[in-house]
Amino acid sequence: MEKTCTNVWESCLQIIKDNIPTQSFKTWFEPIIPLRLEESVLTIQVPSLFFYEWLEEHYVGLLRKTVKKHLGDKGRLEYNIVVEKSSSQKPFTTNLPSSGNGAEGKNQSIPMPIALNKDIKNPFVIPGLKKLQVDPQLNPNYTFENFIEGDCNRLARSAGYAVGAKPGGTSFNPLMIYGGVGLGKTHLAQAIGNEVKKTMPDKLVIYVSCEKFCQQFVDSLKNNTINDFVNFYQAMDIIIMDDVHNFAGKEKTQDIFFHIFNHLHQSGKQLILTSDKPPKDLAGLEERLLSRFKWGLSADLSVPDMETRMAILKKKMYQDGIELPNDVIEYVANNIDNNVRELEGAMVSLLAQSTLNKKEIDLALAKQMLKNFIKNTSKEISMEYIQKLVCEYFEVPVEMVKSKTRKREIVQARQISMYLSKSHTKTSLKSIGAFFGGRDHSTVIYACQTVEDLIDTDKKFKAYVYDIQKKLKMS
Ligand code: ADP
Ligand code: MG
Repeated sequence: MEKTCTNVWESCLQIIKDNIPTQSFKTWFEPIIPLRLEESVLTIQVPSLFFYEWLEEHYVGLLRKTVKKHLGDKGRLEYNIVVEKSSSQKPFTTNLPSSGNGAEGKNQSIPMPIALNKDIKNPFVIPGLKKLQVDPQLNPNYTFENFIEGDCNRLARSAGYAVGAKPGGTSFNPLMIYGGVGLGKTHLAQAIGNEVKKTMPDKLVIYVSCEKFCQQFVDSLKNNTINDFVNFYQAMDIIIMDDVHNFAGKEKTQDIFFHIFNHLHQSGKQLILTSDKPPKDLAGLEERLLSRFKWGLSADLSVPDMETRMAILKKKMYQDGIELPNDVIEYVANNIDNNVRELEGAMVSLLAQSTLNKKEIDLALAKQMLKNFIKNTSKEISMEYIQKLVCEYFEVPVEMVKSKTRKREIVQARQISMYLSKSHTKTSLKSIGAFFGGRDHSTVIYACQTVEDLIDTDKKFKAYVYDIQKKLKMS
């Protein structure tokens, strides 16, 4: 039988079909059209450059074997790639050889993707508009103005600001924002998107959670729309992908994202990622993807300090046009100290309850209401905590209290810490002495005596101690 491109490709497909999962076959091989066979060179047409990259990356070995089986050792494969410039123009094609053609099948480098520009079907596009328009999926409240600055977020915030002013134009690409739950990752990442949309409305920005992206990928496999899916994301100027730790274990989706990432990065587009851990600690992600996550800047969001927590609460109150007494705000900020979302939640629940009960909120009521919110209300006060509180109060470094120094303000902080440890914990004098820099029990007795005397004689000192005690009791 004479060999034609059609029957050679058919025979190849028979073998390929037996060697890969049905779904993969349907996705990656059924759309291929055999074009011609000239002197042992089989040319196949693939719908996009991305298709070509994918085939070369995942199936080059299989393709090489099958082509050589049917065309002999001289057998070569070439791709004809449809590159659609715009819907009005005829698609033009470009030819590329397979890297599997060489005797050893050594990988040659895959050429840079060509920017594609076509009408793209995708879940976010607003229908009926000619130019590609995308609803960026941003929450308009997540802005920089609403994002309180503090030591906990200074680097991430200013890097985000720089990226928002010049997307793709800084070395922070990708910008990876990482940190624990409820610390503002989503807010900050979206603030960048909102900023760009405000100053450069034509930029195509898309916010997508990693989970949603994975789901869209699975759907596009099912519906045979993988090409549209990839083209859509590759057409963006800025992708904000939230919670990339959720890529763990999803290799196929990581592969796709890897290609999208490369395409955007090479064309100077901006990627913004968030995750619950720094890239080096992310488990279940492919090394090559992780290495790209480390290319730009990783900046962390940590737990806000008391001052920042108060500022966040006040800002929120101001926005909602409500007022709470200062000691209530202080109480909330003091007790919910590791999650901004919970901080806001506590306040909302306070307000809701006060509206329902038609009662003004005072500290007693707040304590009563927040019982359920604040876990282990009766938690034991530890010497560490006392020490931390005292040092924060007098603004002295914690390690100084344990040192030998006799500087007045340090001695004072040390003595008050000892005094409070004696009155607020069940620790023995000996253990208190040991904790505060290996001192003996008589030092502790002397410290307590001194503090008591000063409380009696020095009004200012008395106020200090009462103030700290109040804070202790609020915890
Ligand atoms: P994450 O994505 O890290 O879990 P979010 O971005 O969803 O956290 O933040 C949780 C809530 O806390 C949001 O309502 C957000 O607006 C608020 N928030 C977090 N950090 C700040 C901040 N620095 N200033 C103002 N609001 C903040
Ligand atoms: Mg989030």
